[in-house]
Amino acid sequence: MDSQGEMAILIIYTGGTIGMVRDPGTNALHPFDFSHIQDQVPEIKSFGSTIDAIAFSPLIDSSDVTPEFWVKLATLIEKHYLDYDGFIVLHGTDTMAYTASALSFMLENLQKPVILTGSQLPIGTLRTDGKENLITAIEIAAAHRDGQPLVPEVALYFENRLYRGNRTTKTSSEHFNAFSSPNYPALADIGINIKYNHQAIRYPTTLRSLHIHQRLETDIAVLKLFPGISENMVKAVTRDDKARGIILETYGSGNATTEDWFIREIQDAVKHGKVVVNITQCLAGKVDMTAYENGRRLLDAGVMGGYDLTTEAGLTKLMFLLGLGLDSQRIHKNMEFSLRGEISS
Ligand code: ASP
Repeated sequence: MDSQGEMAILIIYTGGTIGMVRDPGTNALHPFDFSHIQDQVPEIKSFGSTIDAIAFSPLIDSSDVTPEFWVKLATLIEKHYLDYDGFIVLHGTDTMAYTASALSFMLENLQKPVILTGSQLPIGTLRTDGKENLITAIEIAAAHRDGQPLVPEVALYFENRLYRGNRTTKTSSEHFNAFSSPNYPALADIGINIKYNHQAIRYPTTLRSLHIHQRLETDIAVLKLFPGISENMVKAVTRDDKARGIILETYGSGNATTEDWFIREIQDAVKHGKVVVNITQCLAGKVDMTAYENGRRLLDAGVMGGYDLTTEAGLTKLMFLLGLGLDSQRIHKNMEFSLRGEISS
């Protein structure tokens, strides 16, 4: 029997539109304190669960998110891990998919729900989507069967779908349905009832305690290809001495220009120890560097395949793997292997 009662949930409020109010001078939105959210959603107090809240200081627009912020968030979850059955992270939508992806790698052996949500309209406005998002996220975080949580993952809830966090990307700055998970099914569909897709949810197979990873390598670049990209622009990345990794956003199934200078730059970057990962610019589908000659040239140059990783998951996975201090062979192995359900291969 599924139930939500008598659980302890911790809401971690980081900022984002959900709690923002308009500045009377500039008319721009800026984050406001948690009591504002509580006043707008009095239901929080009458839930069958114990619900506590912690607010970040300062509250931020999520376009100010940094890896240090992720460490702070992961540490906070670890600190309260044994006291709560589930966690809600209220977060701005702009970088929510990055944070969800990063957290999934940082929280090893996670056995409890960590549900990120936010809204497109501030919670104080008449047509806000924030109230429904928050209430449903709490229900999901509290849902359990025979004492076990139904969603022991880092997940993202928005509008009427629950997604695996590291499979998401923000695809609309306007619609309430702001996120997509193009290469992985929803973990739950929400209508009158919450229908969990148990086959898609990862359930732990061993009982290990939570371990958080705090070291992330941040000297990484995302190089998005476009027709006409210049040698100088590519060199600015490939010849940057500090860059340890490059996410190469390629075309289609992982193709790039075969111009000699380009292949040479990529090859040299790999030779000098940079990890180069091929991720497609396509929203859905996967990288297969053996499909076309143009892709094969990258494979031969030593580029690793990102298969169906999103840029958000590929970038944070690379930060995580480099942060572990692995050599490029082990990074290669782990990059193509599913660590947290982020990749289909
Ligand atoms: N700029 C806001 C943020 O990401 C947008 C939002 O929350 O929807 O914090």
